[in-house]
Amino acid sequence: MLKMAKTDLDAFVDALTEASYVVLAPIEEGEATKFGVVDGERIRIPRLSTRPLKELFFPQDESLLSFDCSGTPDTSIDMSGVLASAGISPRVALGVRPCDARSLVLLDNVFASDDYRDPYYTLRREKTVIVTFACPLPGVACFCESTGGGPYDETGSDVFFMEVADSYLVKVISEKGKGLLQEVSPLLEGSSPERSCILHEADDEDIQAVMEAKAVREQSVNTGVPVEAAVAILGQVDVFGDSAWEEVHKKCLGCAVCTYLCPTCHCFDIGDEVTGGSGERIRNWDSCMFPLFTLHASGHNPRPSRKERFRQRVMHKFNYFVENNDCMACVGCGRCVRNCPVNLDIRQVLAAFAGRELA
Ligand code: SF4
Ligand code: SF4
Repeated sequence: MLKMAKTDLDAFVDALTEASYVVLAPIEEGEATKFGVVDGERIRIPRLSTRPLKELFFPQDESLLSFDCSGTPDTSIDMSGVLASAGISPRVALGVRPCDARSLVLLDNVFASDDYRDPYYTLRREKTVIVTFACPLPGVACFCESTGGGPYDETGSDVFFMEVADSYLVKVISEKGKGLLQEVSPLLEGSSPERSCILHEADDEDIQAVMEAKAVREQSVNTGVPVEAAVAILGQVDVFGDSAWEEVHKKCLGCAVCTYLCPTCHCFDIGDEVTGGSGERIRNWDSCMFPLFTLHASGHNPRPSRKERFRQRVMHKFNYFVENNDCMACVGCGRCVRNCPVNLDIRQVLAAFAGRELA
C-alpha cells in the first residue's frame, strides 16, 4: 500500500497529464457536478457527482456512424472516423466514488458481454483507468451497503484512494492500475524537489488507521433498506398484477430524472439525422418512464400509464436484470432519491414490497 499527502493531489494530476493521460474528474457545471476534462484546475472531489460516471462511456448522445447515399447505386457507411473519435486517448477517471465504479461492472453486462460487445462503450472502457476514492461521508440517501457495495467497495476500480488524516493511502487493485502507477511514478520521483516523495510506502500505523476509519464509516451507511427481501418478492410471478403498484407510483410525474441520473440505467434510442443525401446515425439516452418509449406504430402502448412505466423501472432493476445477469441494476447511490422532484423514494418502494404477502 502506498501513501500520498492530500496536498500532492494536484501534482499527481500534473504527472498524469505529463504522461499523456486525459484526466477526467468531477467539475462544476452550474449547480451540478459531472465528470469532465481537467485542465489545470484544482481537483475537488465532491461527495458524489450530480451526474453519473456512465456518461464517460455511454454519453447522452453520440454519433454511431455516418453515411452517404448520394452516390448511386452504392451507399457508403463510415464508422472509422466515429470510432476513432469515440473517446480516445488513454484516460484516467479520477475521484470516482465506489458506487459509480461498481455501476460500470453492471453496465458491462449490457455493453461488453460475450453475446454483445458495443464497440463505442468497450473502446472507452479499455482506454480508461478508474481511480476511486473511498467515501469519507456517505450521504443520507446513500444505501450502497444494502445493494452489495459500500463506501470502501473496490469493485470496478483500478486504483483505490482512502483518506487517513491529511493523506491518502493508495491501493493498487488491477493490472491496469498497477501499470498506471508504474508509468507515473518516475514522473513523481525527483523530476523536481517538491515531487520527490509524492508516493511512498505506507507504514503499519497508516494501514491500521485506515482500517479503523473504514470500520467507522461502514457503520454510518444505511444498511436498513430491505433490498434483498424486495428482490425475492419481486421475483414472484404474481407481483406483476399486485395492487401495491397503484399506491407506490402515485406521486410519479414521469419526468425521467431518476433514470437519466441513474448510473446503471442504459435505455437508448437510435435515429438518423439526414441532410441531403448524407447523414449520421445518432444514439440518444431514452427512458422507460416516457410514454413514447413503448408506443407501437399501431398506436397500441403496452405501458399506457405511469403505473406500468414505474413498475417497469422497478422490475427491470430488481427482477429482470437479476434474472439475466445475477445482480440487481442498482448500486444504492441515492441519486434518484435526492433528485426526484416529488421525493418518490425507491427505498420506500422496496420496503413496501419487502416482506409483504402478495394478493
Ligand atoms: S424522478 Fe421521480 S417523478 Fe421523475 S420519473 Fe422518477 S420517480 Fe417519477
Ligand atoms: S436506482 Fe437510484 S439508487 Fe439505485 S443506482 Fe439508480 S439512481 Fe442510484
